[in-house]
Amino acid sequence: MFESLGRRTILSLASHPGIGRMVRRYGPAFGATRFVAGETVAEAMRAVAAANGDGILGTLDHLGESVADRAAADAAADSYVAILDAIAASGVKSNASLKLTMMGLDIDRGLAVANLRRVLDAARRYDNFVRIDMESSAYTGVTLDIYREMRAAGYDNVGVVIQSYLYRSEADLASLDALAPNVRIVKGAYREPPAVAYPLKADTDASYRRLVARQVGRGFHTAVATHDPALIAYATGLGADPEAIEFQMLYGIRAGMQRELARAGHRVRVYIPFGTEWYPYLMRRLAERPANLGFVLRNLVAP
Ligand SMILES: Cc1cc2nc3c(=O)[nH]c(=O)nc-3n(C[C@H](O)[C@H](O)[C@H](O)COP(=O)(O)OP(=O)(O)OC[C@H]3O[C@@H](n4cnc5c(N)ncnc54)[C@H](O)[C@@H]3O)c2cc1C
Repeated sequence: MFESLGRRTILSLASHPGIGRMVRRYGPAFGATRFVAGETVAEAMRAVAAANGDGILGTLDHLGESVADRAAADAAADSYVAILDAIAASGVKSNASLKLTMMGLDIDRGLAVANLRRVLDAARRYDNFVRIDMESSAYTGVTLDIYREMRAAGYDNVGVVIQSYLYRSEADLASLDALAPNVRIVKGAYREPPAVAYPLKADTDASYRRLVARQVGRGFHTAVATHDPALIAYATGLGADPEAIEFQMLYGIRAGMQRELARAGHRVRVYIPFGTEWYPYLMRRLAERPANLGFVLRNLVAP
């Protein structure tokens, strides 16, 4: 019954302050735990270790988006340094994914860049890697600029994300070719107007295929991040160097398919979010698959 609720409707309901307050209050009962690995680094590390046990790599996301002050942005960067320390100390196989708004981008670009550099320096000490997640289209240009700036500054342990629903994405990839970038290709999770993004899923999917084929054809390291079996089958058929392609999925979604791909010898990485700021993340997961609302409501009546 929830299939009739569209993705855009759910994303707009999610930004309603009253709904946000209610869902946050009844937090875990709303099923957040299916998609979020816990609140602490220790819980997140246990989830990575379990994935590693199935032959699956991790990428850790400390949940949180735009922060309101410099102290919160600095604390977010500290938390990522702590994540990289914990990965190195425990020996699990994982890198990290972060959002520039959490590093302070809405307050001051320089602050976000300084915080990002601090995280990249920590990753470099451990020979680890950090992926800059892509946020809404208001941030696409600045995120790619900051990525270029980091590469120009000599950081080669950083990657970026391109969303196939945006019309601009093919040109954005072309603009990065000289850097032989490590790009994660996703469909895109934000509410975007038809002026900037394909309104139809078929067009987003076709664009996804083009973008993946483009990157694989150039031999660039490509992260195919989707749960869509047709797109995964398409990507596995491209004949990419197995070292240059990985399949990425979200914690709690299609876990069986993740294990199957890993067993078949593909490199698979699971995106593991943790922390207390899970509300916007959970709302995007519900918007992708309104049937998840049924799951959430069932949890609420029978926790
Ligand atoms: C590792 C990873 C990192 C990501 N990083 C970003 C990012 O930086 N920026 C960004 O905008 N987006 C990001 N996304 C989200 C992405 O943009 C999509 O919103 C999301 O992956 C859903 O699209 P899909 O490709 O799985 O295909 P869809 O066509 O949405 O789904 C295909 C099938 O997958 C299953 N499925 C998909 N979503 C769900 C769900 N929520 N619950 C249960 N089943 C589901 C269903 O069976 C569905 O039929 C990321 C996704 C992944 C996997």
